[in-house]
Amino acid sequence: MLSGLLSDGTATVRFTWWDPPREGVERGVVLRAVGAEVREYRGRAEVTFSWKTRVGPASPAELPRVDGEEIPFRTIQELKPAEEGFRLEVRVVRIAPKTVTVGTERRVMHEGLLADRTGAIALSAWSDFGLVSGEAIRIAGGYVRAFRGRPQLVLDERSSVVRIEGTDLPDPAQLLRAPPRSIADVEDDGGGEAVAVEGIVVGLLPPSGLVYRCPTCHRSVRSGICRVHGQVEGQADLRARIVLDDGTGALTVNASRADTERLWGVTLEQAHERLRNQPDPSLLEEQMLESLLGRRLRVRGQGTKDDFGVTLTPESIEPAEIDLDAAAEELLARLGGGG
Ligand SMILES: [Zn+2]
Repeated sequence: MLSGLLSDGTATVRFTWWDPPREGVERGVVLRAVGAEVREYRGRAEVTFSWKTRVGPASPAELPRVDGEEIPFRTIQELKPAEEGFRLEVRVVRIAPKTVTVGTERRVMHEGLLADRTGAIALSAWSDFGLVSGEAIRIAGGYVRAFRGRPQLVLDERSSVVRIEGTDLPDPAQLLRAPPRSIADVEDDGGGEAVAVEGIVVGLLPPSGLVYRCPTCHRSVRSGICRVHGQVEGQADLRARIVLDDGTGALTVNASRADTERLWGVTLEQAHERLRNQPDPSLLEEQMLESLLGRRLRVRGQGTKDDFGVTLTPESIEPAEIDLDAAAEELLARLGGGG
């Protein structure tokens, strides 16, 4: 039995193929199936090729055009996981190639962020559409999947991308300069693609400080063992999992080595040196906490939510200026409110 996803550009469905060709089926091949069965599973169509189905090769030219006028427009806010068969007009906020391993094959995909007036969505493109940051595009033949609890737009060889004027689309700088939102709001939204928050450092979560990572997958290594690659020579890294609180709620900021070094004022090499003089790594974490505790930070990045709350993968972490007038007003309001 073979199963996977089929797409004709208007929709992507799961399929099951009983008694498939022995030589296998290559990704991207175009097929014509006569006598396929369609059933509904959890509100979604599923296609089955049974012994009654005749399946043969077809030409890509026989597939329906995906940029047809009959496909409805959606806004980013309207997109839900498993959505497909829509058109979208968006601005490319950023885009970058990424090499991934699929089975034994190494492929280049393109990851980025798209925005319209209603919001932003992560992009994962399996084909190179030559996208450039700042340009406006019309997309057809994409589909939405949930990735780490957030909707993500997936484009593949069946999707179409057309450059448009896009005068009513936001400019990317504007999106990345958006004012901070309350952590409670971010939590209600389940995170977000380009989230900005401002709060006070109230703690650190383990593992923070000096950690060791697998040289292949960068997962943290415990007792010299990577849970994917077994025994490895761990590479030293510095990180801080910062708990940020703004009075409405708290979230975790996963600071990279560069951000951690800058915020803490101690480099990885210096941390190593301290460890030679005081061979207790928990002291390092304490010293890091001491220097971060109570600092006000403005953080921008991608927020994802799980059972433990929202985690921000930051694009930027900046010390926030405390607006004394606003702080005094806030304090007065709280006192006045009897709280
Ligand atoms: Zn590994």
